[in-house]
Amino acid sequence: MSFFTKPTYPKARKRYFCDWCGQEIKVGEKYFYQFQCPDAVSLRLHTECASAMYREDFEEGEIIGCGHPRGLTEYEWEELEKVPETTATEGEA
Ligand SMILES: [Zn+2]
Repeated sequence: MSFFTKPTYPKARKRYFCDWCGQEIKVGEKYFYQFQCPDAVSLRLHTECASAMYREDFEEGEIIGCGHPRGLTEYEWEELEKVPETTATEGEA
């Protein structure tokens, strides 16, 4: 069973890309960092994206893929934009 380490909020020492929205995390920007065991997956997120991640009922490890709007869950995004999204993975396997 996988689990995440306790998140930390370091300052970016180089450019990263957010695992939630895929956008750049700039040097010097504070970001959310978490490490998933035992798969050795590092999560780096904008702090607002981390908030969105916690609001969404996600499955661990499932969020990686950069398909999310920055700082919003898919649901919130749809509510805002009212754009039907049919390409997203529907339902759980
Ligand atoms: Zn982000």
